Amino acid sequence: MERTCLRCGKTNLMLGVIYDYSHREKAPITFQSKSEVFYGGKPIVLNAILCKSCGHTELVADLSEVSSPKRYVCPHCKASYSYKVQDLGVVKCYNCNKEFTIEPE
Ligand SMILES: [Zn+2]
Ligand SMILES: [Zn+2]
Repeated sequence: MERTCLRCGKTNLMLGVIYDYSHREKAPITFQSKSEVFYGGKPIVLNAILCKSCGHTELVADLSEVSSPKRYVCPHCKASYSYKVQDLGVVKCYNCNKEFTIEPE
């Protein structure tokens, strides 16, 4: 489905990034989760979408980093860590180094 402007409904959109000029290195502005449990405190890059018809600008988070980590409890030591979804199957516990199987949902 083609993305449309939330304001005027046109499809004349341009993808960009809003930079944070308070940083010297011109870092893109990021979203930082208050509960750092799931994202490990990792900032999420916000992409900007600007409508060339009306100027409406939308911020859309890059979810490629966010969607994957999930916490799983090790059956051996009960430690819970985030494992990426592509690790589904056998993973090695970060705490006790024993392997266990993650059940796909
Ligand atoms: Zn628009
Ligand atoms: Zn363990």
